[in-house]
Amino acid sequence: MASFNLLLLPGDGIGPEVMAEVKKVADALGKAGLGTFETETDLVGGAAYDAHGKAVADSTMQLALSADAVLFGAVGGPKWAKVPYEHRPEAGLLRLRKDLALFANLRPAVCYPALAEASSLKREVIEGLDIMIVRELTGGVYFGEPKEVVTLENGQKRAVDTQVYTTHEIERIARVAFDLAKVRRGKVTSTEKHNVMRSGVLWKEVVTRIGAEEYPDIELEHHLADACGMQLVRWPKQYDVIVCDNLFGDMLSDVAAMLTGSLGMLPSASLGAPDAATGKRKSLYEPVHGSAPDIAGQGLANPIAMIGSFGMALRYSLGLGEAADLVDAAIADVLASGLRTRDIAAKGANAVGTVEMGDAIVAALRKRL
Ligand code: NAD
Repeated sequence: MASFNLLLLPGDGIGPEVMAEVKKVADALGKAGLGTFETETDLVGGAAYDAHGKAVADSTMQLALSADAVLFGAVGGPKWAKVPYEHRPEAGLLRLRKDLALFANLRPAVCYPALAEASSLKREVIEGLDIMIVRELTGGVYFGEPKEVVTLENGQKRAVDTQVYTTHEIERIARVAFDLAKVRRGKVTSTEKHNVMRSGVLWKEVVTRIGAEEYPDIELEHHLADACGMQLVRWPKQYDVIVCDNLFGDMLSDVAAMLTGSLGMLPSASLGAPDAATGKRKSLYEPVHGSAPDIAGQGLANPIAMIGSFGMALRYSLGLGEAADLVDAAIADVLASGLRTRDIAAKGANAVGTVEMGDAIVAALRKRL
């Protein structure tokens, strides 16, 4: 039986509460003989700052670099509002992303039939939605230089951010999108603003070339990023995989995510380049939500985003696609049975807590194993 080494970084607030439910799911899969999941747990964020004076210790980084996958809960909270900027809890996550060179962010937007009513869109528009947003995470306008505010001779200020992409950066994110489309419905939509941005012209050129040379069987279409935003709320089911730069991806992934309901439902993955020798990618899996200080410690958090993130780890880092399908199906079973945490319950309806939801998912999983 294959053995996997997972680093669990629960973090702050509701992070430890939702991570505890992932451990139960991993144990159930292990007991059913789907793999041996060796887990190591360490501190990150405010919890690490309290212990070591740093948002992530060097020893933790070593564990992250050698793990088959890192599972990350959430960091931050009012307790650390005044710590020095370089040690703020989020710095732990940023260092992990940087040192693991995680350049591709994957955010699925899936609408479980049982939750179609919770969307702000009509049921027929949203039911059965299953799309994937692939966002470039380490380049573009958030990192390009110059990035500055200068004072002009007339006393006015001038602020500059620089949108910059190289051929290599576009090629590698395009390949992630095409590879995903291969195992999904075979379609990539590339978004940029080539009508007004030079970087958009290069983006479109490079994605077109990679598609034609390396993925001739994948359908490729190009949408301007603003038009893509409109189409996402008009008829999102036209999409399969959407690939975008850092800035447009930031926005489009949030739009797509909210089509399907609560923050407590949204998983994500961040991937690095494949290792030349082993083909394995460095990877980090985390829910989209934060540490939710308003409900932390009360057992109210929805663990589905965290469990779904583990499902993505099974699929994209551990080569256990079938186990990932079972986890997704178990989540769907539980939702179909009517069980809800508070964030996804109808007004006035009964809601269960984190542990009950986790236990129900494990029970549904066991039935399918
Ligand atoms: P948040 O995602 O923590 O919470 C927003 C709202 O959604 C809250 O009302 C919260 O109760 C609810 N919510 C979030 N996750 C939920 C879940 N699993 N189940 C039920 N309800 C859930 O965002 P915020 O309030 O803006 O930020 C709180 C803290 O988290 C801040 O310190 C922020 O910096 C940090 N944060 C961290 C990350 C991360 O670790 N990746 C991401 C976003 C925010």
